[in-house]
Amino acid sequence: MARRRQLYEGKAKILFEGPEPGTLVQYFKDDATAFNAQKKGTITGKGVLNNRISEFLMMKLAEIGIPTHFVRRLNMREQLIKEVEIIPIEVVVRNIAAGSISTRLGIAEGTRLPRSIMEFYYKNDTLGDPMVAEEHITAFGWAMPQDMDDIIHMTLRINDFLTGLFLGVGITLVDFKVEFGRLWENEDMRIVLADEISPDNCRLWDTKTNEKMDKDRFRRDLGKVEEAYQEVAKRLGILPEAGNADMKGPEMMQ
Ligand code: UDP
Repeated sequence: MARRRQLYEGKAKILFEGPEPGTLVQYFKDDATAFNAQKKGTITGKGVLNNRISEFLMMKLAEIGIPTHFVRRLNMREQLIKEVEIIPIEVVVRNIAAGSISTRLGIAEGTRLPRSIMEFYYKNDTLGDPMVAEEHITAFGWAMPQDMDDIIHMTLRINDFLTGLFLGVGITLVDFKVEFGRLWENEDMRIVLADEISPDNCRLWDTKTNEKMDKDRFRRDLGKVEEAYQEVAKRLGILPEAGNADMKGPEMMQ
């Protein structure tokens, strides 16, 4: 297939022009970054696994009525998505204290929060994605109040659903980050789930051992990063088909 025109390259993904207007191709790289790109590396096979994991989770969420940008997976590293206008907000939900909430507020990692907590961050690399309140988001026009109502409602449903789905395969959903976009269909606009949902943007702990099965293994140099992503896919029952040359090495086929 002829190479498509590249529109945007992010830290973990590349967006190409899609085959028809209003579509894009999302390509998943093996590149990993942490701490606002101060730490860089590669996680072999990550792109393949995240493509598959995100496809699976987005399809499951669509089944419960969460609108998403996902159309279909094209190959090992690419998926067809609807072109949306990304809302420059990262929405984080926390069920258990870890990462920045633990450091900022001095809550021991692993503490179950009294209830799920939602936070918003302004997507701006230069500023290091600062945390913002809903007030900032609506005052500066990054999203309208009615958009925020949709986003909050959808995010709570996503948390409830994914918590149960992961629990069913022995994984605790500690926290995660999602992004939303505006999908224009003629004159109508809908807010839809965009970006990806994968171990790159979730904290996933083994329910029995609390072992980390997510990007913290890379962030904190814990080792066995590929294996952790692979284990998440395996538990979800979606390890990519064996024998594809795009999977770098037989260890990915276990
Ligand atoms: N997260 C993300 N992208 C970011 C920041 C955070 O996907 O730019 C995810 C992260 O993987 C975790 C959750 O959001 O699942 C909460 O992250 P936290 O605020 O604790 O920040 P971190 O400790 O990752 O810097």
